[in-house]
Parts: sequence; structure tokens; C-alpha cells
Amino acid sequence: MTETALRRLSEDEKLRLGTEIQRRVGVKTSRDEPLARFTTMRVGGPADLFAVAHNLFELRGLVRFARARDLPLFLLGRGSDLVISDAGVHGLVVQVRAEGSRVEAPRITVESGVPMARLSTLARDAGLTGVEFALAIPGTVGGAVWANAGAHGADVAAVLVEASVISGDDGTERTLDPGRLGLAYRDSRLKHGAAGRPDVVAWATFALEPSDRATVDGRLDEIRRWRRTHQPLGVPSAGSVFRNPDQGPSAGELIDRAGLKGMRVGGASVSERHANFIVNDGHGTAADVRRLAELVRRTVAERSGVDLVPEVVFAGDWAGWKEAV
Ligand SMILES: Cc1cc2nc3c(=O)[nH]c(=O)nc-3n(C[C@H](O)[C@H](O)[C@H](O)COP(=O)(O)OP(=O)(O)OC[C@H]3O[C@@H](n4cnc5c(N)ncnc54)[C@H](O)[C@@H]3O)c2cc1C
Repeated sequence: MTETALRRLSEDEKLRLGTEIQRRVGVKTSRDEPLARFTTMRVGGPADLFAVAHNLFELRGLVRFARARDLPLFLLGRGSDLVISDAGVHGLVVQVRAEGSRVEAPRITVESGVPMARLSTLARDAGLTGVEFALAIPGTVGGAVWANAGAHGADVAAVLVEASVISGDDGTERTLDPGRLGLAYRDSRLKHGAAGRPDVVAWATFALEPSDRATVDGRLDEIRRWRRTHQPLGVPSAGSVFRNPDQGPSAGELIDRAGLKGMRVGGASVSERHANFIVNDGHGTAADVRRLAELVRRTVAERSGVDLVPEVVFAGDWAGWKEAV
């Protein structure tokens, strides 16, 4: 589990840093911004300071400002892989909304705030195949490179040529190929950086293959149909909670066999449609989700001997979290 328990900013720091960000970077910040609405699980407390990067200029400025002031930074894409703690995230939270794109067939370069679903339709419109799987991923390109997101037998690593990454250590920006990004099953080097000083994806280039629009459209329709039948859509969730084990049954099968579908803690329950999804009935808290995930992990370990590893990120301050099951 990735966790970032960092010091809460004082009211004075929030005011001073917010004013400085506005003056030096030209981006407005808000204080104590509730984050639940920026995540698909719809849980999570406030960010000490919150800003939206509408373009790469703002993104670079915010990352470098945070570095220069030793201000803890947390990046938010579409919040579709996150359970943010009820206590929230300390430091500066930047939502990445840089959404520029350039098609130079057979390549497409997109800024990191571009939704993956849009990448799939940009490719379709240009008569290119290879990123249809991106339609299934309700996150941004930045979040997808970070996680090496994948679906339907494909993943980011299979089509990524290079990504530009702003270093969390010194603010320099470098273009890295998939090897240097360390892309592996739902993993990348970016996942293992220091809390509060993340490496930040600025843009990414994908190499695709020419195809005809009707074929790609057909494939996108199949993916839409598959998701409607197999995933709990339209209810808050963060996708698959656990990684699939390297061998043997999938995490979903193990949870299903342990009889855990429908199990509930507070407002969080194991989806009846897909056992590896935890859904929020709208009244759940982050602690409900985490307690339920922990209960699922323990029960599966007891029944099948497999220790499931979370795929979702438990972000923010979990210091006060107590396991009450
Ligand atoms: C219904 C549903 C279905 C899903 N299906 C799939 C699936 O089929 N396959 C799959 O792989 N995933 C799936 N997911 C999970 C999720 O959509 C992906 O992991 C996605 O890549 C997360 O992107 P995001 O923008 O939402 O990232 P967020 O959840 O906002 O952030 C996740 C992590 O990425 C970091 N991050 C975000 N942007 C950047 C950036 N620009 N640079 C560096 N770090 C960054 C964040 O700091 C955070 O640590 C699903 C989720 C849901 C809700």
C-alpha cells in the first residue's frame, strides 16, 4: 500500500504558500478542499492546499514550486485508483488537467491529463488501432503510465514509446522509454518514489498501427459491452482493489470462492457483480473501504492461503485509522 502521511500545514502556511503560488506560478489555490468529489470512490477528506494544473506550464511551475519549498506534493488524475483517507492529504494536491494532444499517425502524443477514454477515440478518429483498451480505464494518461494500466489483454507498456517525466527530486524533466520507466504488470518506477516528492508524468507518446475506423469502432463497442456486463458501473468504486496473483485464480475468483460477495462494512460492500470491486453506497467513508479491504484480505488468506496485495492506492493521512474488525 502506498501511503503518504505527512505533516499538516498550519493555517498560516496555507495562506502564505497559497498567496505565493498565485503570485509566482499564476495558479489559484484553495484551502481545505474536500477531495472526495475528485475521486471515483467518492471518499476522502480535504487537501491542505489544492490547485488545478490546466496546462503543462502550470504543472511544471507547481511541481517546481513544491520542490523549491520542500512542500509535500500529491498528484491527482481522475482519482480512479485511489482511496483517500478521511483525514485528507497534507501539503499541496495538484489535479492534472493538461489535456493537449497531437496526432502524427501512427503516433499520438498526449498531455498527462488527457482521459484514457479520449486517447482511445483520438486513435479511432485517426484510423489507428492499439489503444482500444484505454476506453476501459476511467483515469488519465498520467495515472495510466504511473500504474502501467491495462485491460483486455493490452497495457500501456505495449504501446508507449516514451514519456516525459518531471523529477520529484530536482524538478528537471527527462524523456524516458518504457524500460527506464520500469513498466511491469500494473507497476512502474514512478510508483516507488518518495512520499511527497513524486516524479510527475508531463506527456506521453504512443505508437499505434493503421486500421480502419469501422474495425476499431467494433472493438470499442465490444469493450463497452464487456464492461457493462462485468463491472459495477454507475456506482462509486476504484476498480480492482487487489492485484491478480502471479499464478492461480484471479483475485476476484479467490474473493468469490471465499463467499465474500455482498460483505459490507458501513457504506462499503464487495460488489455482487465483480468480487474484486468494493463499491460505496454513497454513505461510505474511507475507513469503511479500508476495513472491508482488510477483512477481505484476511479472509482470503485464511481460506486459500493467498495473501492478496492491494492495487488501489490508500493515499493521504491514515495515521488515525484503526482497524475495527
Ligand atoms: C470502474 C473502474 C474500472 C477500472 N478498470 C481498470 C482496468 O481495466 N485496468 C486498469 O489498469 N485500471 C483500471 N481502473 C483503475 C484506474 O482507472 C487506473 O489505475 C488509472 O490509470 C488511474 O488513473 P487516474 O488518472 O484516475 O489516477 P489517480 O487515481 O488520480 O492517481 C493514481 C496514482 O497515480 C498518480 N498520478 C496521477 N497522475 C499522475 C501524473 N501525471 N504523474 C505521476 N503520477 C500521477 C497519483 O499521484 C496516484 O498515486 C479502473 C477504475 C475504475 C473506477
